[in-house]
Amino acid sequence: MGQAMTDTAPERYTTELRSLASRKRRVYTVAAAAGIAVTLLSWVTRDPDDIVVEIIYPLLAVALLVFTVALHRRWASLHALERSVLALLTLVILGRLAWHLLLGGHIDDHLLVLVGGHYWAVAALIVAGFVLLDRDLGLRFGTGVLLASVLLVAVGAGPELVGPDGSRQALLYLVRLHGFLLTLLVLVLAVATLREQLHRALSRAETFEELASTDALTGLANRRAAVDALAREVRAAERYGHPVSVVVLDLDHFKAVNDAHGHPAGDAVLVDVAVALSEQARDLDTIARWGGEEFLVIAPGTTHAEAVAMAERLRAVLAARRPGGLEVTATFGVAQHESADGLEGLLSRADQLLYDAKAAGRNQVLGERAEPRGGQATSAEGPG
Ligand code: GH3
Ligand code: MG
Ligand code: MG
Repeated sequence: MGQAMTDTAPERYTTELRSLASRKRRVYTVAAAAGIAVTLLSWVTRDPDDIVVEIIYPLLAVALLVFTVALHRRWASLHALERSVLALLTLVILGRLAWHLLLGGHIDDHLLVLVGGHYWAVAALIVAGFVLLDRDLGLRFGTGVLLASVLLVAVGAGPELVGPDGSRQALLYLVRLHGFLLTLLVLVLAVATLREQLHRALSRAETFEELASTDALTGLANRRAAVDALAREVRAAERYGHPVSVVVLDLDHFKAVNDAHGHPAGDAVLVDVAVALSEQARDLDTIARWGGEEFLVIAPGTTHAEAVAMAERLRAVLAARRPGGLEVTATFGVAQHESADGLEGLLSRADQLLYDAKAAGRNQVLGERAEPRGGQATSAEGPG
């Protein structure tokens, strides 16, 4: 099957998704390595009687290592790995917070390590939610983390927040800290919203681009896209020294088809011709609707002789097919790019040959020179 467009939006989208996934893998590997380093550092510098750090942190480091290996060995989908690592981090970070606030004794003994250290991990968790999940889920996750943190403080340290001497230092620190976490949540939400809007605008632009280069009736590349594709192929041909040929075809007496059967029937013929051409062309060929009932095939890596043979095959297929259920034939002009000519030169040669072939009786192929075919030194001639 030939390609209607040179690079369709779904193909582009798939390629982009794949490169996004590999970029994510690289970023996650660096983040996991940093996580392992921080975890091990916390373990080395732990309080001698802090059994949570002593037992849990090495396990966390191993889990992050397993995550990194799973990431590269593709043991699970990226999506599943992202969610499991977020769940694990949530469990460890909120679990540690719960341990400090519910089981760890008086709040004053923990305030420094909480404010100076552990709440950074809570902040990182909120950011990680937005990175690993989409915006709405990230918001729900971050809000959940923040509420859990407030709840743990209220339940675990509520009565201890105001000291016996009336000092409210612990309360102030923790209120400010949660104010900071809330600000962070709002900021990251704003960034995620902008990112989503940008993404939507980009995909809309892509749709417009797709529409601007596609023929609405047949779905083939339109004239604009064909000119772009031809320019690309000619540049590549000149650079790498391979041939490129074009085939222009025009349906015969199409005005009479419209007059006899109506415009909608004519449209159906055009659509069916486009299908037939797409079925016949090779992967690298570009097929375009060049004008009303005129089509262009761009055939890279194809010599003049090969292009004439292809055109002859297309002519026979169309004549036998009865596109749209009607007796319709086409006439073809074939030209090969030469180093001296630009796009216009190449196209006008093909056009002139098409014109000459029309004058010679239609339903036939005319190339620039006679090609030896089956012992006969003639340009391909159809039966009509
Ligand atoms: P020739 O063999 O010399 O090419 O004769 P022709 O009748 O095909 O040539 P001409 O250029 O005079 O007519 C082309 C016709 O194609 C006229 C126009 O109505 C018709 N046409 C162009 N675009 C469309 C279209 O999108 N749908 C339909 N149904 N007809 C179209
Ligand atoms: Mg015509
Ligand atoms: Mg025409």
